Amino acid sequence: MFANFHTHTYRCGHACGTDREYIEEAVAGGIKVLGFSDHCPWVFDDGYVSGTRMSPAELDGYFYSLTSLKREYSSDIDIYIGFESEYIPELMEAQDKLLADYPLDYMILGEHFTQREPYSPYTGYPSGSAAELERYVDLIIEGMDSGRYFYTAHPDLFNFTGSEEVLDRQYRRLCRYFKEKGLPAEINLLGLCGGRHYPSGRFFDIAAETGLKAVIGCDAHSPDVLSDRGKISACVDFAEKHGIEIMDGSEFFSAFLTYKGGNK
Ligand SMILES: [Zn+2]
Ligand SMILES: [Zn+2]
Repeated sequence: MFANFHTHTYRCGHACGTDREYIEEAVAGGIKVLGFSDHCPWVFDDGYVSGTRMSPAELDGYFYSLTSLKREYSSDIDIYIGFESEYIPELMEAQDKLLADYPLDYMILGEHFTQREPYSPYTGYPSGSAAELERYVDLIIEGMDSGRYFYTAHPDLFNFTGSEEVLDRQYRRLCRYFKEKGLPAEINLLGLCGGRHYPSGRFFDIAAETGLKAVIGCDAHSPDVLSDRGKISACVDFAEKHGIEIMDGSEFFSAFLTYKGGNK
């Protein structure tokens, strides 16, 4: 594995290990480019505190720690500092202001919620609502169109229990959009190795038919997965099974640099 842009830290409250341990494991696993993408804080104007993401007060420590480690390990590995965030239109302006003074390299889009917490259900919970699935796909498209995000994490996170026909239509719409924009489909290692409902075979069959390429996102919530060749090869097997090509590491990295160049 050449590059992984999907890495969390203990600050989100549901990941473990030190920042240094993630880097050490990535180096041991032969990863050349490591992007940290912890769950991004939101500004909640009513004092609500999310249990699944770092708080605004932790931003200084996140950037300070990773910037120091990036320098320390510069001869072994390239480190980038980013976030995984939902796209929730009414919250974006405040998030932009919150992050404005930090040396942020990138963001990936992880649409865990379609409205602000705590009013939105988690999109990974089973739902038979065709309207909610449509909104989920709409927001991913609108979010990616904003140019903020490098790629979409687990695009198949929505746990739809309604008709195959509706699911098929929405997945095709999303895959066609990714294809048009040259975006990859993430095979989420955490979901695959944790026996979750994603990555979805149905989604990746459609992604392959649409001509998308796949990338592997470790979605590391513990350092050890970054050097776990068995888990990474399970993702490769999954791609083979669904007939989707995995994007070459240098192509993935050059897509990143193009994205980053457009976000200066
Ligand atoms: Zn997480
Ligand atoms: Zn993640």
